[in-house]
Amino acid sequence: MRSESIPLVMKFGGTSMGSAERIKVAARLSREQHELRPVAIVVSAMSKITDLLLDTMSKAEKGDEPGVDANLATLTERHVACCNELMRDPAETIARVHEIIGNFARMAKGMMLLGERPLQSVDKALPTGERLSALIMAAYLQSTGVAAKDVSAWNLIATDDVFGNASPLMAETRERCEQVIQPLFDQEILPVVTGFCGSTLDHHPTTLGRGGSDFSASILAAALDAGELWIWTDVDGIMTADPRLVKDARVLSAITYAEAAELAYAGAKVLHPRTLAPLVEKQIPVWSKNSFAPEKPGTRIVPEIESADGPHAVTSMGDVVLVSVEPTPHAFSGTKLMAEALEALDASGVELLAITSSSYRQSFCFLVRKADLKRARTQLEETFQLELAHGHMKPVQVDDQVGLIAVVGEGMRGTPGLAGRIFTAISREKINIIAIAQGSSELTIAIVVRREGMENAVRAIHDECGLGG
Ligand code: ASP
Ligand code: MG
Repeated sequence: MRSESIPLVMKFGGTSMGSAERIKVAARLSREQHELRPVAIVVSAMSKITDLLLDTMSKAEKGDEPGVDANLATLTERHVACCNELMRDPAETIARVHEIIGNFARMAKGMMLLGERPLQSVDKALPTGERLSALIMAAYLQSTGVAAKDVSAWNLIATDDVFGNASPLMAETRERCEQVIQPLFDQEILPVVTGFCGSTLDHHPTTLGRGGSDFSASILAAALDAGELWIWTDVDGIMTADPRLVKDARVLSAITYAEAAELAYAGAKVLHPRTLAPLVEKQIPVWSKNSFAPEKPGTRIVPEIESADGPHAVTSMGDVVLVSVEPTPHAFSGTKLMAEALEALDASGVELLAITSSSYRQSFCFLVRKADLKRARTQLEETFQLELAHGHMKPVQVDDQVGLIAVVGEGMRGTPGLAGRIFTAISREKINIIAIAQGSSELTIAIVVRREGMENAVRAIHDECGLGG
């Protein structure tokens, strides 16, 4: 008997869907909750499948037909094997697996003919992994006696038309959910929704950015007025630091939305950075839980926590570069250069992780991901062609031996002397600090250090702030 009427949304990530064995666990966790209340689950592609699909399309674009065929074979084998392991009578599901992969194969072959992969077509083809997982999960649940139905987020999540990194249109998403999900809830059917994707108002498929299934789940939780969102991963929750770097890193029992978002943006691989935004208005709590150890409590992410003191976590990013733009004494205005540089980077879609400047020389630096460097540099050099030619600006400099550390915690607001202690701890390790930025929220202190000292600096900060277990 159901004791509650407020829906719960749960999301299973790639590792939680990674094999027949994992799918069984995810199905059990879903069934347990489905017996208590209306539950919608959101599933990612099986681990590594999205990469495989991307690789297939890139091979198609290059005309590598044997490569494409080999990938398609791997894709088919993995999903068919999974169906065979999960179900006594998998024929119907396997037929649909072939159908979905057949659709993908046609799109890949189209890209091969064209010699290119238009963003719109990629967005249509890429959620193939999620479509397969949703199909298999729903079929398996049905085979164990749970009324479940796979639902495409193409019919649920309405987005803008920024292909590859779309944002939700919440009012329209609500309407779609009302039409598609509510009737299923009314019949006590468990919807199994494809993560990662949505569609524009005129129904062109879009994707929400890599790792976007977390975001799908939070969009759905908000649209359904869910009581909670549970995100199932393969770690025990959100930790005070990366346990591979810091031995005594510990799982946090609770953190705030703002802290979790800062950690996600600063490279902690806990949540898709945009996940929390849709939940803020309704203040829907999120649990980050481990499907490999479901008995552990996990981390609760909530709007506010009382009695927060000091930082809660420290995280780092090593795959970053510092790009400097420096006007020469002949330049007209350093500020104008900065404005133009920002505009240029924004136009090319490069995300700035930190900005620092030194006022006396009017030089300024941007920290960007290594993967964005080429784009950032090309864009800057194109924008400043004239300034560079006339000697108003020095050549764009790149320092790739840097790392970014972020110390995050609500309790850092107005804790006097904290920054000083953190910097002292870093210098004790004889690590050079290149730049410091404190966000206006005072929630995060971001520190750019020499790359070779980054790991030690993380440990020193973790120690100094007493974050360990
Ligand atoms: N399968 C997608 C990806 O790998 C979405 C996700 O896993 O959240 O990016
Ligand atoms: Mg994932």
